[in-house]
Amino acid sequence: MSATQPARKPRGRQFFANPGPTNIPDSVLLAGAHQTMDFNDPNFIEVYDGCIAGLKRILKTEQNIFLYTGSGHAAWEACLVNLLSAGDTILIIESGYFSISWAKMAEDLGMEVRTVEADWRRGVDIAAVKAALAADTGHAIKAVCVVHNETATGMMIPVPEVRAAIDAAGHPALLMADTISSLGSLDFRMDEWGVDAAVGGSQKGLMLHTGMSFNGVSNKAMEVHKTSKLPKHYFNWTNMLARPHKSFVGTVPISFFYMLQEALRLIEQEEGLENVFLRHSRLARAVRAAVQHWSGNNGPQLFCLNPSRYSDSVTAIMMPEGVNADALRAIALQKYNVSLGGGLGPLGGKVFRIGHLGDLNEPMILGTLATVELAMKVAGVPHAPGGVAAAIASLAE
Ligand SMILES: *Cc1c(COP(=O)(O)O)cnc(C)c1O
Repeated sequence: MSATQPARKPRGRQFFANPGPTNIPDSVLLAGAHQTMDFNDPNFIEVYDGCIAGLKRILKTEQNIFLYTGSGHAAWEACLVNLLSAGDTILIIESGYFSISWAKMAEDLGMEVRTVEADWRRGVDIAAVKAALAADTGHAIKAVCVVHNETATGMMIPVPEVRAAIDAAGHPALLMADTISSLGSLDFRMDEWGVDAAVGGSQKGLMLHTGMSFNGVSNKAMEVHKTSKLPKHYFNWTNMLARPHKSFVGTVPISFFYMLQEALRLIEQEEGLENVFLRHSRLARAVRAAVQHWSGNNGPQLFCLNPSRYSDSVTAIMMPEGVNADALRAIALQKYNVSLGGGLGPLGGKVFRIGHLGDLNEPMILGTLATVELAMKVAGVPHAPGGVAAAIASLAE
């Protein structure tokens, strides 16, 4: 093929098995094709207000919410700059690539970062979180940051246990929880779990395009916000409260709200939030059954070694020693048009990920698993054939 020839366009539908962005339902795509309008138009305000109420129901909060035109990183940054001051100390619970990225952001913003280190395959020991807080008798730590669902490793960290550790240590630190890849796919309860700042994004469980993110903010955190000194303007919640929508400095991204309105309708009315969670856990179990089967014969295995923390929205799969995950992903994509997630940071080339969150059903998962098995056979990756049958058995239970 010469350099001027376009790449061959594969026929059929792409099976998109990334953990974010995720598949966008057709009705959501169509809802986004809405003519733009004045964001103060009463017709839009009605849609906007409905979406805010819906987001609060999904976050399970009756407190505050602020939104940004920007991906999840924007909401990460917003909760740091609105709640902290230069030189403040925060405690990050290590879980994988995303916890480390959030920590790096905090450092760049001038914060002192302490880390509760953890084995990425087993996850943090909550007792170590409690010990770190108990040792901080001077209460230097202003916030504890946890990634609810570590998208890079396929592990869920129990946020209520982190809350309990903070309370047991009698520590006043705020609790910040990244729910970017858990919201709308795993149960998350902001108010009940005592989360002070929740971080959410549009393109994962909420099944929208990338480009909108938000924070749920507790009333306690709103008081802390008043004393925060980090520079901010676009992200400043005080500026937002003076705006007509009590959010968004600048133009409101209209089309996102038409899409969000439809996504909320699918989640809450058509399927029901509890059923959404059950579907994710059913599909996740099937993926794990396939991988556990493949692992016979020195095949790939589940990256997460802690069954009580398996993620129901993404599975990271560790390749056998010396076998490149990206070579397998390239075959899956180029030959069969199945897009798998890659390994992030130090897991690059060692891990591939199957995202099973958002708009997904059994045939999509089975198709993906069957194609991974096919690609392993073609690539000569050692594995025990029959993982798909194990997934079918799991789904038929
Ligand atoms: C995707 C993701 C992010 C980053 O969000 P962007 O929208 O890519 O900026 C942060 N945390 C977690 C857990 C994620 O899955």
